Amino acid sequence: MSTNNCIDPPPIKGAPLVSDTLRSMRDAARVGDPIAAEIVAEWFLALRNQLFADQRPVRLEELGTGTPYWIQIDEQQWHLARKRGRPVRALYVHPLPGERSTSRRDHKWSADRTHCVVCNDPFDWAEAYCNPPRAPQPIPIKVQPFNPSWFLPALERLERALKRESKQERDKWNREIAQLRKSIEQHTKEKSP
Ligand SMILES: [Zn+2]
Repeated sequence: MSTNNCIDPPPIKGAPLVSDTLRSMRDAARVGDPIAAEIVAEWFLALRNQLFADQRPVRLEELGTGTPYWIQIDEQQWHLARKRGRPVRALYVHPLPGERSTSRRDHKWSADRTHCVVCNDPFDWAEAYCNPPRAPQPIPIKVQPFNPSWFLPALERLERALKRESKQERDKWNREIAQLRKSIEQHTKEKSP
């Protein structure tokens, strides 16, 4: 089963989380195009299967006093907040993030606390742990075959052209060419079987 659709396929493989589904729904609403019935059915199935699954909250939050921000709290603070009638909320995910991934890192919130600067999850309903998509593996560059003897015809042509130069230039460049020929000869001798 998958909540994949053409708008924003979830980057992590496995059964879709509630947050994957909510993210797909949000993105679809932003795009504004009509949604095929089978995609809506997939969203429904993903939400139903997760909401009725064995799960426990992975994050408890209380609305900060006088701020629009949700603050993470522990279980004891949760019960106190419930008693006082404070607005609280819990994040449930299924399967648990630890069952899908080994990442246990916390998110790093942006200065305005709108999103995680590492994985880009929105602050309001980020997954419990930071699990950024992996960078693509670089393709190893294959060493191209190279043979210095390929330069020999060019050296021959240079020698012929040097005959029109002054004696001083001819001597200087002939010495260089002789040195290069020697190096090429040694190199190709070492390399050839
Ligand atoms: Zn993150």
